[in-house]
Amino acid sequence: MTQPRRAPLVTKVRAVSDVAAHMRQIELVGPELRRLRCRPGAHVVVHTPDRRVYSLWRHDPGAASMTVRIALHDAGGPGCTWARAVAVGDRVTVEPPRSKITLDGTARYHLFIGDETGAVPLLAMRAALGREAETYGIFETTTPGNEVPDFAAFTPFPWVHRGAAPAAGSRVLLRAVQDLQLPAHPGTAYIAGESDTCRLLQRHLVEQRGWPRRSVLLQPQWAPGRPGFGAGTRD
Ligand SMILES: Cc1cc2nc3c(=O)[nH]c(=O)nc-3n(C[C@H](O)[C@H](O)[C@H](O)COP(=O)(O)OP(=O)(O)OC[C@H]3O[C@@H](n4cnc5c(N)ncnc54)[C@H](O)[C@@H]3O)c2cc1C
Repeated sequence: MTQPRRAPLVTKVRAVSDVAAHMRQIELVGPELRRLRCRPGAHVVVHTPDRRVYSLWRHDPGAASMTVRIALHDAGGPGCTWARAVAVGDRVTVEPPRSKITLDGTARYHLFIGDETGAVPLLAMRAALGREAETYGIFETTTPGNEVPDFAAFTPFPWVHRGAAPAAGSRVLLRAVQDLQLPAHPGTAYIAGESDTCRLLQRHLVEQRGWPRRSVLLQPQWAPGRPGFGAGTRD
């Protein structure tokens, strides 16, 4: 039977592990994952059963598998609750992948900036570029134990730590980006994470460093007081 184009996919949990103090990695498998095509940085809506959006850390069509990494944040919510409880063998419905940002094939170099949630799509995008690409990056989380581990083949980007300082509109990450040594000419920046922080960093690159706005690609992923961020059917 032919499936409607955006029909949800039925998967099963193959593996669950903790990759950081507050980040759980979940591998899903299902025959339909073999046929999917997705761009680096793509995300899926997971029915937890509430709809929640998570980026693909890895998609392996050969193994009919996809892997997500989910931040276990203090505010909690259906996504967090699901990730804490999920077990091998559980059935999980996901919607087919979509992309908001992806790699710019014309970039002179690539700059990746984000918090721990943004690190998931951004490090997957960097991995897709390969080791020879000219890349820069900086990430932020609460403590060293919450840094998101990178793919083994890559030298990790530096992380800064906000401790108990607010993640929203993060001054810690802004200062780190202000201090970043970059080539004199603009490249393409990919910024992902808390919504106000994304806009603060975009403003810095455009207004203080003179980057063209079109060279700064944003993926806001969450915001205080906004449950189910980005999961609307029209997003
Ligand atoms: C395109 C896209 C890609 C994303 N990729 C990832 C990913 O790969 N990994 C990932 O972990 N998240 C990712 N997110 C973010 C994730 O969808 C949200 O954090 C989501 O709100 C989590 O759902 P929840 O049910 O746990 O909390 P919700 O019920 O949605 O939110 C409850 C409250 O928790 C707070 N909150 C939500 N998220 C956070 C957070 N991260 N830190 C602190 N407080 C928070 C807010 O105040 C919110 O009002 C992505 C979002 C988008 C739009």
